[in-house]
Amino acid sequence: MKIEIVPCLTDNYAYLVNAGGQCAVIDPSEAGPVNAALDRLGWEPDFILNTHHHVDHVGGNLDLKQEYGAVIVGPGKDAARIPGLDVGVDEKSGWEFAGEKVRVLEVPGHTRGAITFVMGGNAFTGDTLFSMGCGRLFEGDAPTMWASLSKLMALPDATRIYCGHEYTQSNGRFALTLEPGNTALGARMSEVKNARAEGWPTLPSTMGQEKKTNPFLRPDSWEIRKSLGMTEAKDVDVFGEIRRRKDEF
Ligand code: ZN
Ligand code: FE
Repeated sequence: MKIEIVPCLTDNYAYLVNAGGQCAVIDPSEAGPVNAALDRLGWEPDFILNTHHHVDHVGGNLDLKQEYGAVIVGPGKDAARIPGLDVGVDEKSGWEFAGEKVRVLEVPGHTRGAITFVMGGNAFTGDTLFSMGCGRLFEGDAPTMWASLSKLMALPDATRIYCGHEYTQSNGRFALTLEPGNTALGARMSEVKNARAEGWPTLPSTMGQEKKTNPFLRPDSWEIRKSLGMTEAKDVDVFGEIRRRKDEF
């Protein structure tokens, strides 16, 4: 499976996936850069996949559908908010791409209908899980998002994480305020700094890497709990407090 990262808008990523003669575009926020990448590679998309309804993830749907006749696949629970949706999917239905099963995980919190596609060891998480961060709680509460992130944490550590935005460096700066003693976090931050200085994406990350560095997946960290003055609290409440502080960071 070949995966091409396509920077869009100011800090969005769309992804092109090609396997077994089939091609899919994931979260095209706009058609222009996606078209340019497709032309360069000589690929034509059969499918457009959407992780959630926000315009910076579906903005290119109709243009690309018109140009290539691509079939639009997205969260069935949010069918009314996905422009041009042809195939609604959920955890039960799953999906299939290039003859392989694709797992669909329902991960509400950022939006009610948010889903993650898991294809051959790659997870396309949209705005649910970022590298060292997670999405804002626009349509869900902390327990809902914590359940969704916990579902993603059950994926194998080697799973490559392809998320919707290049927020890694600013996420990491926030993470360091809670866990300055986390050596894995320090190491990841210098790697991220170098990548950004060269203009390279910091993605994909891996689930193993995220478990070591992403504060939103680490409410059990003693250092984070001490930073928050929440040594006795439940994981979900620590998670909620981390999210609240990030909103104000
Ligand atoms: Zn979003
Ligand atoms: Fe987004």
